[in-house]
Amino acid sequence: MASRTGAHMSKFRLKLTALFMLLIGLSVLAAGIFTGQFYKHNHLEALSNHMETQLHVLSAAAPWPKDGSKAARTEYLEAQAIRFKELADMRITYIGTDGEVLGDSDHAPGTMDNHAGREEVREALASGLGRSIRHSDTLDENMLYVAYAVKDGQSGQTLGIVRLAMSLSAVENSLDRMWIALALGLLAVFALAALVSYRVALSVTRPLERMTTAAKRMAGMDYKVRIPDAGKDEIGELGRALNAMAANLQDHMGEIRRNELHLQSVLDHMISGVVMIGPDGRIRIYNRSAELLLGSLARERVGRSYTEAKQQYELLQLIRSGFETGEPIHEELTVYYPEERLLELHLVPIPMDDDTAPGLLLVLQDVSAIRRLERMRSEFVANVSHELKTPVAAVKGFAETLLAGAVNDPETARSFLKIIQDESDRLNRLIGDILELSKIESRRSPLQFSPIDLRSFLDRQLEFLGPEAAKKEISLELDAPEELFIEADEDRLGQITLNLLQNGISYTPEGGRVRVKAVIVETESEEGGDPLEHVRITVSDTGIGIPKKDLPRIFERFYRVDKARSRSSGGTGLGLSIVKHLVELHHGTIRVESMVGVGSTFIIELPLIQDY
Ligand code: ADP
Repeated sequence: MASRTGAHMSKFRLKLTALFMLLIGLSVLAAGIFTGQFYKHNHLEALSNHMETQLHVLSAAAPWPKDGSKAARTEYLEAQAIRFKELADMRITYIGTDGEVLGDSDHAPGTMDNHAGREEVREALASGLGRSIRHSDTLDENMLYVAYAVKDGQSGQTLGIVRLAMSLSAVENSLDRMWIALALGLLAVFALAALVSYRVALSVTRPLERMTTAAKRMAGMDYKVRIPDAGKDEIGELGRALNAMAANLQDHMGEIRRNELHLQSVLDHMISGVVMIGPDGRIRIYNRSAELLLGSLARERVGRSYTEAKQQYELLQLIRSGFETGEPIHEELTVYYPEERLLELHLVPIPMDDDTAPGLLLVLQDVSAIRRLERMRSEFVANVSHELKTPVAAVKGFAETLLAGAVNDPETARSFLKIIQDESDRLNRLIGDILELSKIESRRSPLQFSPIDLRSFLDRQLEFLGPEAAKKEISLELDAPEELFIEADEDRLGQITLNLLQNGISYTPEGGRVRVKAVIVETESEEGGDPLEHVRITVSDTGIGIPKKDLPRIFERFYRVDKARSRSSGGTGLGLSIVKHLVELHHGTIRVESMVGVGSTFIIELPLIQDY
């Protein structure tokens, strides 16, 4: 591209140079011709003036013979002619008024033809002086002839003509030399002019060349290009205008790019998946969330037809019907790739820039979690109602029976009142646990971290549980190093371990053993940095154990392996789910290992220091 411009430009430069040269050449030629003519004219004028003077002198020095015979006169004139030739080295001819040659320095008069017809002779006869330039065939050179009419002093009558002839070869030689000198001089001037005009042309075309190159680069969207300042003339002005235009375009492009970037980062950081499809069915926009939700990368999708996304069959059908009907679609659909998800789809036809046919904009939202949560909430409400109903029904039933007359039998009344008391306790515990759980879930009360001496902390708990364990003859054991401090919320950590220990006691038959152990372990950090120090607290019992199939569910709310047993032990079915939540609030993990009939082990790992 640039070289073509260069070629065009140098052609233009050549043309410009040629034009300059032509103009200069013509003026130089005109000047040469004028000078040559002027020189020639002046030279001839001087020469003929000189010859004229000579003629005057000659006719005064050797007057025309008036008397004597013709032969004598001829002889005299001839002798004069020869003598003069010797003196002045010029051919001299004496001519009679009738044109007859009477004497000549170079030829015998008798051999010469009549000269009356010669131009200079005719002029001299008419006006006294005549002049002519002619080619002499005899000498084969150009000659200047000057003729003078000799007059009689008294009568004024023309006596004859004296003519001087001089070869012009000397004049012509000097003229030739002058021409050569002139030509050489002009050539030098011409060469100089060529150089100057080339430079002038260059100074005109170079900025133009630069501008053309710059303009082409601008057309190729390179707006950083600038033209160097080319002075104050129109070309400089044009350069500045182009620069201003480029700066403007650069600003605008920058603005457009920035906007594009903003838009891109908005799209990239949106939680919703955004897909835009052109009227031709080709995907134009496919943001990061769309990549995650639909399981393919933007670079595999953008520019290609939406129908290629074969895994998303249901979605394809919806897009197809969107194109067919041109109506917006709001629907929930399940996708199974890359994993099962419930997506909410908003599909709207949108006008596209370059086409009259509309494209489609799809906004996809993952509502799996929301739906799951909704389901969990409604299940929870159903569970809570169910759990509350049982004790309330019991309280109501026994109260009614008492009122119906049982109150009169003190024995029965006492046992009924005991049941009512137990059920109210249960109700109270249940409501307490539900409130606790909702408080933890809504994160209304943030944890208060402080260092805890774990050994003495656990020791106190075991002491507190001592009477309960003693009732079932269960031995409580503690295995923890001295001076093991952990950063935790003391009350919450208490809830965690107390819950686990109480479960251990509840689900262990008489004579069994419940043991709590604490050790420091090092675990790999998630980012692969330095290993983090954790405290592992293990609560194990020699109880009934948990069947394998129930293990994954025991941290769910209200989940119990054996409802009746849990009820009789006073459990609410919420203990472990509260424990799990609290452990997670401490950025820890909990898991369980168990074997039916052998015992269960709950393993908690908590960070030694809370540096989150
Ligand atoms: P609950 O109040 O019924 O004890 P939890 O949430 O504390 O409720 O426990 C859920 C269920 O997990 C219990 O009903 C019980 O079946 C089982 N479970 C918990 N801890 C133990 C244990 N140490 N040994 C055997 N089963 C247990």
